[in-house]
Amino acid sequence: MKPPVSKLSSIFRWPEGFICDRCGHRKSYHLDARPRIFECAACGRQHSVTAGTIFHKTRTPLRKWFCAAYLIGHDKRGVSALFLSKELNLRYESAWLLAHKLRHALTERDEFRLADFIEVDETFVGGRRQKGNRGRAHGDGKSLVVAAVEKVLPPKGKKGVKGQAHRAGNARLAVIDAATADVLGRFIRKNVTEKAWIISDGWRGYRDLDEFHHIPVIQGSGAMAGTNMPHVHILFSNLKAWLIGTHHGVSAKHLPRYLREFNYRFNRRGMRGELDSFVLKRAVSRSTITLDQLTSGEHAEGAD
Ligand SMILES: [Zn+2]
Repeated sequence: MKPPVSKLSSIFRWPEGFICDRCGHRKSYHLDARPRIFECAACGRQHSVTAGTIFHKTRTPLRKWFCAAYLIGHDKRGVSALFLSKELNLRYESAWLLAHKLRHALTERDEFRLADFIEVDETFVGGRRQKGNRGRAHGDGKSLVVAAVEKVLPPKGKKGVKGQAHRAGNARLAVIDAATADVLGRFIRKNVTEKAWIISDGWRGYRDLDEFHHIPVIQGSGAMAGTNMPHVHILFSNLKAWLIGTHHGVSAKHLPRYLREFNYRFNRRGMRGELDSFVLKRAVSRSTITLDQLTSGEHAEGAD
């Protein structure tokens, strides 16, 4: 007998039990022949368990979706589309689409902001930073990524990193066009609470942060950067290792969606073994994204 996958999805869709959209009735009929449909016992309205979710109209069996969510959530580093295609016996294109739809579901809510002490810096991903090129548009295949990382006191009995008194808290990442004061200011205002302490380097893009306490750390060499802002630099090196190690490098077009996944994982790195159910819950609570939107890189950023 097959496991009741559609029953499982109905639990995510209606955590309090079935409720009819039209009449509010709580009882439904469920036909084995159409496992994704729940019919209201009172008015007969048919509800698709996958409507309005990223699983809508998928031809891939829900069982494979759930396995993929489990694999993506269960592995600390996540998995590639190639891995999913082999494990779940899917065409690479289907596995890619499925992985990106699940990744699309992993987005931090805007109302959640970073607070207190925040390290902020930018880096180029997919290429080398050119000296003096920081404020301008960048060259082929390189994306400029900005990150803000909370600097927090470690829990009692634990140590900070690199001999420091602190460790990293939550983070926010984004792809930006250029490291101008306008763009960096917008990123910080969107993601950081007022009156927080911003720790950055001496780059002129970090001026005009009047509503924050700002600590620009002027540093002579790249080597010093690691001591002044250790957490954001560790995050950048982990990000680059993850993009290459797990995903074998990613295109600039889809980088924002990978950043979401990385960010989501980073902020939940203390939650062992629970991310798989998070992936599913987020997946059913978000509106869908089409193949066209995915391949064009549309909706790669922002809340939806
Ligand atoms: Zn009804």
